[in-house]
Amino acid sequence: MAPRIEIDLGKIRENTRFLVDALRAKGIRVAGVTKAVCGDPAVAGAMQQGGVSLLADARISNVARLRSAGITCPIELIRSPMPSEVDRVVETCAASYNTEMEVIADLSASALRAGKVHGVILMVEMGDMRDGICPHELGRYVSLVAHLPGVALSGIGANFACLGNVSPDDEAMAAFSDLVKDIEIDAPPLKAVSGGGSANLPWAFASGTKGRVNELRLGEAILLGTDPVSGDPIDGLHTDAFRLVAEVIEANCKTGHAGPRRVECENSEAHLGEVGATSRIILALGMQDTDVHGLTFPPGVAAIGATSDHTVLCSSERGFRPGAEIRCGVSYGALMRAMNARDVERVYVEAGSSFGQIGEPLQARPTTNIGVTLAPVVG
Ligand SMILES: *Cc1c(COP(=O)(O)O)cnc(C)c1O
Repeated sequence: MAPRIEIDLGKIRENTRFLVDALRAKGIRVAGVTKAVCGDPAVAGAMQQGGVSLLADARISNVARLRSAGITCPIELIRSPMPSEVDRVVETCAASYNTEMEVIADLSASALRAGKVHGVILMVEMGDMRDGICPHELGRYVSLVAHLPGVALSGIGANFACLGNVSPDDEAMAAFSDLVKDIEIDAPPLKAVSGGGSANLPWAFASGTKGRVNELRLGEAILLGTDPVSGDPIDGLHTDAFRLVAEVIEANCKTGHAGPRRVECENSEAHLGEVGATSRIILALGMQDTDVHGLTFPPGVAAIGATSDHTVLCSSERGFRPGAEIRCGVSYGALMRAMNARDVERVYVEAGSSFGQIGEPLQARPTTNIGVTLAPVVG
């Protein structure tokens, strides 16, 4: 069936294991972030097998998916709860990230009703300018949490390179760590000092002190093996755990048209140069199914444009017929959309099984494995 997303759980398990081990040596634990796969329980299970004992997601609907699949480990909600969903947050999450006093008060009331204690992690604004409490306001939030029943301060968190594309440096991370000392004057030691996401890995792997940071929330590095700031592959990680496979529905040479607007796909410039826009291929895949801009196509194939239901490619290869399959690499955004799309089937495989390359041996980037399956030419 196409379109489908092929998910290699073995590679996700290995990526997780690599990161968990490398960061443990630095005194940092990993929260496995499942939002890009919409809380897919099989992917979360692979993260757990890779050594993660804490999961994190931005949406309560994804958390519910994990819970109904029987996943019982602590899960953190890493987006500030909507006031309308606090009961579900208290019911399903060990802790949530918070930036608003009213929401914390709602959580407190809900936890009291449920007879629970909900963990509050205060998200601090460290320059990303998305969600976060300004550092000079932090003291007020700490004492609010201390005075409210049903909630307990579990820690603090920071975001880097989410909205602003700035990766954290030693100075920013030291400033974040220093906040802990001030908080602990009036509060018991913090359990979680969560320094950020995959964008923090260059800082985490570098030599030098990690201060009080003892947690990173990792999504992209585990799933795609890439650094979200540079887009570069991270040494030691698989970059091909996900492949999006689409089927050809038309393959023709078209002449006499002013070409449509070309999408800026990874490597498309290079490929267009090589192929000289010979044959045109249409895939039964469109912007409803994924972010076509975030796909990586096999060598010799480049994207010309995409609409809601069609993706138009050009190729130097003339063997494509309707029914042929093209296997693409995905960016974080393309992955997220594909995992959300109703018509994209999910196919799970384990590392070691034949995966990716069928038909022509194609060389893409060193660690990627993107393939083309040519349908037999009939007649
Ligand atoms: C998405 C997200 C993460 C994970 O980011 P990656 O770059 O995928 O590792 C971490 N923290 C928060 C608050 C997030 O929203």
